[in-house]
Amino acid sequence: MHYNDYYKDVRQGLKQWYSKHARDLPWRVNTNSYGTWLSEIILQQTRMEVGVKKWFHIIASFPTVKHLADASEDQILKAWEGLGYYRRARFLHKAAKIINTNGEFPKSYIEWLKLPGVGSYTAAAISSISFNEAVAAVDGNVTRVISRLVGLKDPVNNSKGSKKINNIAKLLLDIENPGNHNQAMMELGALVCNPIKPKCHACPISKQCISSNNTELLNKIPLKVKTKKIQDVDLMWHLVRYKKFIVTIQFPSDGIWGNLWGFPNNKPSKDYFLKRRPLKPVVHLLTHKKIHANFFMWEAINKQALNDYAASINGKVIPVYDLKQLAMPRLITKHILPIISTL
Ligand code: SF4
Repeated sequence: MHYNDYYKDVRQGLKQWYSKHARDLPWRVNTNSYGTWLSEIILQQTRMEVGVKKWFHIIASFPTVKHLADASEDQILKAWEGLGYYRRARFLHKAAKIINTNGEFPKSYIEWLKLPGVGSYTAAAISSISFNEAVAAVDGNVTRVISRLVGLKDPVNNSKGSKKINNIAKLLLDIENPGNHNQAMMELGALVCNPIKPKCHACPISKQCISSNNTELLNKIPLKVKTKKIQDVDLMWHLVRYKKFIVTIQFPSDGIWGNLWGFPNNKPSKDYFLKRRPLKPVVHLLTHKKIHANFFMWEAINKQALNDYAASINGKVIPVYDLKQLAMPRLITKHILPIISTL
């Protein structure tokens, strides 16, 4: 069979399948640049169910890009809470300010690429979905589908492998309907060509797929070269309080929890603080880090001691019940706030 016919058959199969199986996602109803952009940034590292809920929450909090641009960084981080990878939220905020100043959304792949937090995949997804621009969007799902489809022997996370994937994605692209085609490829990877136990029997391109029902190939492909080792990180945080008041600090902007709020690692002086009490240690996983967090609870001898300690570390004294208003890492909201709120 000629290559062109092969790609045409794949396109056709995908198109028919997507017309029946596309999920009813909120940003696919009345598609607009704001909703599509937001969904793509949220879904970069987030499961669909969580992403949909957060998308509704952020759209309700900031109905337009102007609302997003005018909000404070604290408000954005708070709205983003629970999604992790807070760099995405800060980039979203910066990009919203640029769009708001320009007075319009970018209108092409190249223009989208100029915005903070928007890489090649995101720019391609938005411009194809919003403006029908003929660019192929290649994310993890698409990479898996294509590598299995053609039986790719190169690792998909090195430059040779990813170049091949991108080339095939371009050849496969339906240039008359690139937005739907890109979404169909991603949807197939999410719903049928799963990482484990792909449903080849239900796949619209199984006839064209080299790996279809081939357990040996499916166990190998997509092939990946080993990336960074998980790094162990030890943390010690001090929960310093007096009655219903507690000391909180904002983390430095260049760290993993940049500008989020949390607790100091500066040990208070034993002269002014009593009852040093350890809380249960917490192990928390991030993509390349395993955090081992230890917490100690301290009670100040009086409010002045608490205020002095806070001033010495550039911290803030707030009522315990106000902690939930601050944007904090999930490690704290999940494991520590429930304990503190019972004090
Ligand atoms: S046939 Fe199987 S391996 Fe091939 S694309 Fe479909 S689900 Fe994936």
